[in-house]
Amino acid sequence: MSEKVVVVGGGLAGLSAAARLAYHGYEVTLLEKAPKLGGRAITIPMKGFNFNFGAHAIYARDKSVLRKYEHELNLKVNWRDFSPKKAYYDLGSFTTPMPSTLERLFQTKILDNKNKLRFAYEVIKTLAHIERGEDGVPIGEYLKKEPEPLRDLLLTLASSNFFTNEPEKIPSPLFFQYYSRLFATHHAVAYIGGGWQSIVDGFADILTKNGGRILTKEKVQQVETEDNRVTAVHGKDTVYHADHFIFCIPPKELLTLFGETRFAPLFEEYNRYVPNQVVVYDVGLSKRIESPYTYIYHKGERVFITDISYYDETCIPEGGQLMQAVAYLTQEEIEQNKADEKVATIESVYDKHFPGWRDVLVAKRISKRATVQEIKCIDDQRLMPTKFYSIANAYFAGDWCQGEGQLSELSFSSAYNVTNRILAHRGEEHMGD
Ligand SMILES: Cc1cc2nc3c(=O)[nH]c(=O)nc-3n(C[C@H](O)[C@H](O)[C@H](O)COP(=O)(O)OP(=O)(O)OC[C@H]3O[C@@H](n4cnc5c(N)ncnc54)[C@H](O)[C@@H]3O)c2cc1C
Repeated sequence: MSEKVVVVGGGLAGLSAAARLAYHGYEVTLLEKAPKLGGRAITIPMKGFNFNFGAHAIYARDKSVLRKYEHELNLKVNWRDFSPKKAYYDLGSFTTPMPSTLERLFQTKILDNKNKLRFAYEVIKTLAHIERGEDGVPIGEYLKKEPEPLRDLLLTLASSNFFTNEPEKIPSPLFFQYYSRLFATHHAVAYIGGGWQSIVDGFADILTKNGGRILTKEKVQQVETEDNRVTAVHGKDTVYHADHFIFCIPPKELLTLFGETRFAPLFEEYNRYVPNQVVVYDVGLSKRIESPYTYIYHKGERVFITDISYYDETCIPEGGQLMQAVAYLTQEEIEQNKADEKVATIESVYDKHFPGWRDVLVAKRISKRATVQEIKCIDDQRLMPTKFYSIANAYFAGDWCQGEGQLSELSFSSAYNVTNRILAHRGEEHMGD
């Protein structure tokens, strides 16, 4: 008899966990409250364009957990490598290559020659784990020993990889852990041909082909517990029983679900933490704007634009172009409702680098408070464990949980770790039957 698993939440974490366990012979039911799968990786079609709610840059591609899903489950991933030759920094009065490769480091004007050497030395020290940071010291403070231009560049890099306007607040050990992983790869950034939709469809396909069930518009509203176990979850009209439960829903949803149980205090801490939010402004154009850039980061404004359609031509009608601009927000800016100002700033960056975009604009999508990561990795904020000692058969995954990397990598890796744990105890649930 196969073990039963209920997965709550059909975002990237829930889908990948559900697909992997179904593939390994578990009887899996996935419950998603929305009409469509994907969560924050949902694809929104509009006037012939496919807007991804969140973009699909995969950092540290060679080491990404997606590679494990590719090999193990035969998930199809159409990797599209980032084009370093088309990536630039806008420093206000001039643009200069982004130092994403050794060749580009030589070409860039963001550092003088002496600091270029120091930068290369920093990379080597990070790779060799000579630089590890210090517990309790944020990276901004830790890097004060470095010359200002070098410190500034390292913080600028962190802004883009952590999607934050407050890179100086990233814990220094996390910073070096992240970059030792990223610098060790041949493909630091890659996109996905077919966008997130291809990954969502891929996992859903593996799940259903292996006997799994997907139920959308099924919001889980209550959990039943007994002693140290979850015994069931309640949907709209149905109660789902299982041996294992994987909750791939954010901490605020978890607190609501577990609010009436003795486990509620476990989730309270993670509800207090602030999410990582940005302003996103996608534009769908009827024809391409000629430009030397597929990626440009305006350092002063902390806004970056990616030509998504350069990497994923399935998101546009023939001859069109789809670009995504992201403006980072500080917590203060969020509290002071500065999103409207950011929208105007983004438009000015589009004007500067893609002149004429307004004349060929067909569709746009603006999100003034998009949650890129449910728990932002700054200060003393901690990611949630994937398992608590006091609940025997409940597991947790998502970009608010402990795992590798940042953003979707946390969703995929926490889901992978959770399924590893379930697979390691295979059969034990029925030993007493
Ligand atoms: C603008 C933007 C840009 C981004 N860019 C990148 C990028 O370039 N690279 C990258 O790696 N990542 C990026 N991300 C982040 C990435 O999109 C997320 O990390 C990832 O999609 C999170 O997936 P998840 O499954 O962990 O969580 P979610 O997507 O939040 O999934 C949770 C799911 O649970 C469902 N749910 C909630 N409550 C219930 C309930 N009670 N019952 C049933 N279902 C429920 C929700 O509807 C949702 O589908 C970006 C995000 C944004 C917003």
